[in-house]
Amino acid sequence: MEKIRMTTPLVEMDGDEMTRVIWQSIKEKLLFPFVDLKTEYYDLGLLHRNATEDAVTAEAARAAVKYGVAVKCATITPNKKRMEEYPQLTKMWPSPNATVRSIMGGTIFRTPIVIDSVKPVVKGWEKPITIARHAFGDIYKAADLYTEEPGECELVFRGESGEEKHLPIQKVNGGAVWLGQFNLDSSIRPFARACFRYALDTRQDLWFSSKDTISKIYDGRFKTIFDEEFEDYRTEFEQNGLHYFYTLIDDAVARVMRSKGGFIWACKNYDGDVMSDMASSAFGSVAMMSSVLVTPDGQYEFEAAHGTVTKHYYRYLNGEKTSTNPVATIFAWSGALKKRGEKDGLSALVNFADALEDATLSTLNAGQMTKDLAAMAEPGTDVQTLTTDEFLNAVAARLKGQLETA
Ligand code: NAP
Ligand code: MG
Repeated sequence: MEKIRMTTPLVEMDGDEMTRVIWQSIKEKLLFPFVDLKTEYYDLGLLHRNATEDAVTAEAARAAVKYGVAVKCATITPNKKRMEEYPQLTKMWPSPNATVRSIMGGTIFRTPIVIDSVKPVVKGWEKPITIARHAFGDIYKAADLYTEEPGECELVFRGESGEEKHLPIQKVNGGAVWLGQFNLDSSIRPFARACFRYALDTRQDLWFSSKDTISKIYDGRFKTIFDEEFEDYRTEFEQNGLHYFYTLIDDAVARVMRSKGGFIWACKNYDGDVMSDMASSAFGSVAMMSSVLVTPDGQYEFEAAHGTVTKHYYRYLNGEKTSTNPVATIFAWSGALKKRGEKDGLSALVNFADALEDATLSTLNAGQMTKDLAAMAEPGTDVQTLTTDEFLNAVAARLKGQLETA
């Protein structure tokens, strides 16, 4: 079989621990045999970040902006415990994901990978629900305050023009808590655009929810910006038979529960924090959650939503064959290859990415799975619990068969 050619390199960001091991196996078993893989490689493993004083992370993010498609392995974000574990670290380097996001900008979309043998807790959900969280501002960048004595609090805005705006909040008789939060047009607008772009990309409806009946100006601003930005996408939505739908957050929650899934739900920062945990646990497992960062200009970074699976890595170092689930990492690769193929007009690459996903899903649906999924499989499933390598071999065999008969 002739290997599939690529024209533009993928930006490859390698990572840490168990996922770094799996990363290599995926390339060896599922990619190298079929694709003449072209990547620009950046080692975001903790020790290499340290050796480059984290310059490699920023370089990788800039490459992602330049080429437009990146695939990232999970990485360690060092904390105090990691500083003890890796005494050679010269600094508690920041989260690579935060660095990449701050350079690329954009919005993160998280989608569960759904299989027949693991049913979501919500019985009516037939298709995945993708959550887009506006990861900026609101209570995450707020000033809060506790006061004890009687008094009053007001909101003051001091304009550069010299104009001041005063807004009384409340007069109180005793202990009280206060919160001052903000958001920016310049953050909400690209959030809205990334959501519309991604809905079109994935051919799904877009829902956006807030609480503008109560927070008329604050949440009202979000709604207005979404409405304004939608005008640029309305025609394309109509041409594709897609809908943009705004509703109140409480109504959205009720509708999501009764829905069949298959749409994107854009959430404000706090709502997205809460609802993504709700959705991922209701759909099954963090090991089956994929994540993509999309910028309003259409640049993409694909990754698994889970971490480096440290506990499994230490078992692996002890010589144990682990049963770590590689599915979300496989989907990060397939997502990136598919997007690269679309951008470069390489239908063979797009078809390969689809075949890779099909082979992975049909392996799972045949009952061949890692331990985490085996434990959740519907009663009656003919489960064969495999190690990571056995699972990857099973996917590779199916993929080969599929590509040869195609
Ligand atoms: P984690 O790596 O996601 O793992 C937590 C637990 O979830 C595991 O111990 C395992 O449970 C289960 N799990 C997660 N992924 C799995 C998979 N693919 N297959 C099977 N089981 C899986 O989270 P963590 O232990 O909190 O974090 C470890 C490191 O990852 C940290 O250093 C953190 O900084 C980093 N992290 C990176 C990213 C990222 O790069 N995007 C995201 C999150 C965390 P059992 O042990 O019960 O099997
Ligand atoms: Mg959370």
